Amino acid sequence: MSIANRLREVTDSLPQGVRLVAVSKFHPAEYVKEAYDAGQRVFGESREQELSRKVEELPKDIEWHFIGHLQTNKVKYIAPYISMIDAVDSLKLLREINKQAAAHGRTIKVLLELHIAEEETKYGLSLDACRELLECGEWRALQNVQICGLMMMASHVDDESIIRKEFMLAADFFDEVKARYFADDDAFCERSWGMSHDYHIAAECRSTMVRVGTYIFGERNY
Ligand SMILES: *Cc1c(COP(=O)(O)O)cnc(C)c1O
Repeated sequence: MSIANRLREVTDSLPQGVRLVAVSKFHPAEYVKEAYDAGQRVFGESREQELSRKVEELPKDIEWHFIGHLQTNKVKYIAPYISMIDAVDSLKLLREINKQAAAHGRTIKVLLELHIAEEETKYGLSLDACRELLECGEWRALQNVQICGLMMMASHVDDESIIRKEFMLAADFFDEVKARYFADDDAFCERSWGMSHDYHIAAECRSTMVRVGTYIFGERNY
């Protein structure tokens, strides 16, 4: 099946209110263009240099999401154009994004990344660390970042009940944080979960944004 057909299959299957971030990391710009020509405008990348190359080559109305772990020293390169930084997991990174966004006269949207899955290699804040970050309140003074919601990855397992449990834990945590810190902030509305193998489940577990790569573009060549 072509990229365009796969893309359509995914977007057609998503309930209203769930958007697709097409994850194009490790795939050539031509693949992005194919999805773009089929109507997709939101793409996710996880490496700064690869992203910069694609930004130069590809249409300017693409909304780029940085979905991977972002080192603070790389923020300055993507600050001029990035739409959303999806995986913020420290106050230090949040501060740097604010600083670089201010330098470019922009406000950058971000998501806080939670670590809920069992795998140890994954980044992200524990629920308690996330509570602590928000409770300390420094983020309120950061005028050039807008915290738009939460992001997480479920454990990479076959047992759907585990995946579902992790998504629902994240959804409940979203409600807690929303009520406590963002009750009056309409911008805090995003729940980014669901990848190729579990986006169907995520869509049933209150995701607003799925990040799908392999299913649309095929296996990555690392
Ligand atoms: C690579 C990646 C994805 C896409 O994963 P697929 O299994 O290819 O759909 C989604 N989210 C993050 C954070 C990623 O790094």
